[in-house]
Amino acid sequence: MTRSAMMAGIGSKNTKPELVIRKGLHKFGFRYRLHRKDLPGKPDIVLPKYQSVIFVHGCFWHGHEGCSFFKVPKTNTEFWLAKIRRNQVRDAEVQAKLMESGWRVLTVWECATRRVPEVPLTTEVADWLAGSDYAGNISERDFFPPTDRIDAQ
Ligand SMILES: [Zn+2]
Repeated sequence: MTRSAMMAGIGSKNTKPELVIRKGLHKFGFRYRLHRKDLPGKPDIVLPKYQSVIFVHGCFWHGHEGCSFFKVPKTNTEFWLAKIRRNQVRDAEVQAKLMESGWRVLTVWECATRRVPEVPLTTEVADWLAGSDYAGNISERDFFPPTDRIDAQ
């Protein structure tokens, strides 16, 4: 993992994956607010009209299981795993709190923003927003079967 990827870690605002989603939503005509501090977890993107929030999660920091962007470091392994586990626990707590307050919560994983072109990715997000699910996940896997994945070894 590069230093810049580390720096773009947990809690960072305006990361590249986040900008990809914002740009796509904007082109599709969605209106949103960013990083609303009054909501649990300060969601990256808030769409009040859809009673929805979107988190764009880095695959490493949020421990995206089975993802090619989530590789457990070979040094300080326990330290990193503990850190990632804490993030996962926090993510689950934040999601539960938001849903208790009537928000729908969509998680878009970094891998989707890196590998899926803007239009199909934004279409997937728009479809979810138009639906009625309370929680959702969009990742690279939704677009490419595992055998087609380029492994970033
Ligand atoms: Zn991923």
